[in-house]
Amino acid sequence: MLTDDRSSIRPRKARTTGQILGTADKRDTIYERILHAVMEHRLIPGTKLVEEKLASVFEVNRTRIREVLARLAHEGVVTTIPNRGAFVASPSVEEARYIFHARRILEPALIRTLVTQADEERIRRLYDHVAQERAAREAGDKRAVIRLSGEFHLLIAEMVGSPPLLKLMRELASLTCLIILLYDSPNVPACPNHEHLEIIKAIEQGQGENAVDLVIAHLNHIEETLDLSVSEEQEVDLEEIFG
Ligand SMILES: [Zn+2]
Repeated sequence: MLTDDRSSIRPRKARTTGQILGTADKRDTIYERILHAVMEHRLIPGTKLVEEKLASVFEVNRTRIREVLARLAHEGVVTTIPNRGAFVASPSVEEARYIFHARRILEPALIRTLVTQADEERIRRLYDHVAQERAAREAGDKRAVIRLSGEFHLLIAEMVGSPPLLKLMRELASLTCLIILLYDSPNVPACPNHEHLEIIKAIEQGQGENAVDLVIAHLNHIEETLDLSVSEEQEVDLEEIFG
């Protein structure tokens, strides 16, 4: 859903050589699928991303996979270790704090912009999204709940319509998913549904600063539910998702 809408705001002139040759779309698909797996916690921190296996699963050559992994590494979602390969990143406690700090700076700016642009269509899409979250929660689909929770924040960035801000938000949302997996208490839900709902209501009523306060409280809430007291690196068993 987000993919389609996102591509529609991509300026036509921004097509790269790869897109003209039809190779970039495949790269985008692989990139999206890996990010999706990260956001649904199917790919966990520390998982080795084996080039040959990914190349075989996605039916592309290794060069293509290397390009996708380089992009993910650039965004901090993947860590590359010389002579060992690429791994799903395991953000440290310090990195986790920086990511929440960055979100508390970025998201109020997105909210303030969105309030000025909020029309019926955008508000409806936000409510629809929260309805999907609720349905996933009621169905007990934990993977979907985690992904949809992150995507609520991406939807706000997407509706603001600034590609560089959306890019930042995507990176921060993916990293937050990894952080939640590493440091979450087992029974804590991702984003509480009612908090998303309150944010939408404030946006709908044009109460920009109220919406900003709510989003900051929401981010604080998520950060507080995490156990960021452990400072040592956590070892995670490697798991071949795409193998
Ligand atoms: Zn949230």
